[in-house]
Amino acid sequence: MSMDSLATGGFEHPKWLWRDGAMVAWEQATVHVNAVGHASVAAVFEGIKAYLADDGERLLLFRLDDHLARLAASARLCRIAMPYEVSELREAVVELLRVNDWRQDTYLRPWVFPRGLIREQMVPADVPCEVVIDSWPFTTKLLRPRGCRAAVSTWLRVSETSMPPRAKAFSNYHNGRLAMLEARENGHDWPILLNDRHKVSEGPGACIAMVRDGVVSTPSLTSGLLESLTRATALTLLAEAGIAVEEREIDRSELQLADELFFLGTAWEVLPITTIDGLRVGDGKMGPVAGLLEQRYSAIVRGTQGHDEWLTEVRFDS
Ligand code: PMP
Repeated sequence: MSMDSLATGGFEHPKWLWRDGAMVAWEQATVHVNAVGHASVAAVFEGIKAYLADDGERLLLFRLDDHLARLAASARLCRIAMPYEVSELREAVVELLRVNDWRQDTYLRPWVFPRGLIREQMVPADVPCEVVIDSWPFTTKLLRPRGCRAAVSTWLRVSETSMPPRAKAFSNYHNGRLAMLEARENGHDWPILLNDRHKVSEGPGACIAMVRDGVVSTPSLTSGLLESLTRATALTLLAEAGIAVEEREIDRSELQLADELFFLGTAWEVLPITTIDGLRVGDGKMGPVAGLLEQRYSAIVRGTQGHDEWLTEVRFDS
């Protein structure tokens, strides 16, 4: 194995990955070069976060079972065989955090991909699959000091007529990637994709919500979204705070008139949008609703403000 193929691009990597039922050392977690390519087209994955609890004594996985259930749903939609039950993957994730001894905010990526050499261009449905779980340190706040500039993309979000938007499939991310590159070329940070009805869908890695006249609106689940857990969490927390929320179709021009706009996702958490299509949103800073949501979310994921049913605890060995 050449060093090139183990290059990490400066990222910190774990000692251990979980691969098909066993812990495997990072350096040993390899595949043959011919096993990528078409196999990757059929692969599905998840993005999960574990937070260092406020007491510093444990990690708290946020909505672990919901993420694993979505992984199983993605595999079903993409018609690839998921070889493990959610309960087995739950144990694997917890054990992986233990053996790597992460004691900081950590991102986990379980993924399912067709095993071995694939010669077919169209990966068959009955092909045996492997599951790998990767993990690495990841703190959202360091990544977003000031919010972001967003613009509606000329690319439409993949629709039910092309491939299932509800699947967290690697292939779907080519759509978001092209939109992201276009946004960057035009001097923005992130794109917002419209769906095939030309209504607002989502960002390339997060859902979106807007505030107008005190009401929070977010595109309905039939707008071509990934069924985001942060979006679902936000709807619960806003309702608990007595803020009016609605899920419905949203027009592009509504975004341009919004008092607040923000992305919602596991990696980005609550990310304020400060300009939309070049127009300033509100006063160009995080607004009060996004602020309240971020405060509640940050407290819950660190175990200090209830909703323990969303948390899976991994205590540190002393
Ligand atoms: N949409 C897409 C395309 C995403 O990749 C993500 C991130 N998983 C989301 C929405 C937000 O989903 P979640 O809140 O579950 O992370």
